[in-house]
Amino acid sequence: MVFCLAVWAAAGLQAGARAAIVQPPRGVGDAIFTAEPQPSAKPRRTSAGVVKVPILMYHYISSPGPTADRLRRELSVEPAAFEQQMRWLKVNGFHTVTLDQVYDALAGGEPLPKKPIALTFDDGHIEHYKFVFPLLHSLEMTGTFFIVADFATFSYTNPDYLSWQQAREMADGGMRIESHARTHRDLRNRSFQYLVWEVLGSIEQIEAYTGRRPTFFCYPSGKYDDAVVRMLKSVKLRGAVTTAYGMQHRLADAFAWTRLRVRYGASIAEYALLVGGASGAPPQEAPTPNSAPIEATPAPEG
Ligand SMILES: [Zn+2]
Repeated sequence: MVFCLAVWAAAGLQAGARAAIVQPPRGVGDAIFTAEPQPSAKPRRTSAGVVKVPILMYHYISSPGPTADRLRRELSVEPAAFEQQMRWLKVNGFHTVTLDQVYDALAGGEPLPKKPIALTFDDGHIEHYKFVFPLLHSLEMTGTFFIVADFATFSYTNPDYLSWQQAREMADGGMRIESHARTHRDLRNRSFQYLVWEVLGSIEQIEAYTGRRPTFFCYPSGKYDDAVVRMLKSVKLRGAVTTAYGMQHRLADAFAWTRLRVRYGASIAEYALLVGGASGAPPQEAPTPNSAPIEATPAPEG
C-alpha cells in the first residue's frame, strides 16, 4: 500500500482526493454462485500450457437504431438476441467462467467446468447493469465487466454509463468488475506517470468502490505497447484482453489474450458455430444449412 500511495502521489493525486473516495455500503448477497469449478472436470488443455476457452466480447447490448453508424452497429447486440444467446448457452451445457479461472487452469492445473466460456462486456454501458446483470444472475451465469473508471465517476452527468454503486451491486451479485483504464484514451506512447494515472488510478478506484482489486485489464480500443504491459505487470495484474480474434490462451501471452466478437445480427445458428467450434463442443441444435460463415475478421475498436 505504501508503494501504491507513493505512486498516487507521483501521479499528482492529492491525498485528500483519494480520501474522498467513499465506499458505498455493502449490498446483500455476497455469494459467488457461478464460478465454482466442477471437481470432476479437467482443464481443457489442447496441449501443454494451452487452454481453449472462448472469451466472448460484447459492447452495447442495446438496439443501435436506424441512424447508427457502422461502428455503433457492429459493436451492438440486440437485447432479445443476447437473451437468446444466453439461454442457448445454458441449454447446451456451457458454464461461464472468470478470466481468473482460465488463468488458474493454466498456472496451476485448476479444473475448469465442462464447456467453459467467458463473457466479457466493455465500457460500462448502463444496460450492462439494467439488463445483462439481472439476466446472468437469473441464469446463474457470471460475466466480466471492463469498467472505464471516469465513466463510472461521472455517470451522474452521463446516464449512458453505470455508476460505482451499480458496479458494486454487480460485484456483490457474482459479476467480475475489471479495469478498462480511467479515460479510455489510447495508452500508447505515454509517460510512466500518465500510465500510473490511467492504470493504477482505475484499479484503486475499482477496489475502493467494489471491495475487490481487479486482476485483469482490457486495452482501450485494443491498443497497447510494451510500456503499458510493463505497467500492468508492475501493479500485479494477471493479464489483459485485446480485440484480436482467437480462443487459445497461454500464460506466456496472458497480456494479449484474444476474444471472439459476436457479430451484430448473428443468428443463433451462427452463434452456435462460433462458440461450439471454439470450445470443440458440437452444438446440440444443428445450424441451418444456409447459415452464413462465421466472420473471423479483426474486431472493430471498442
Ligand atoms: Zn472500450
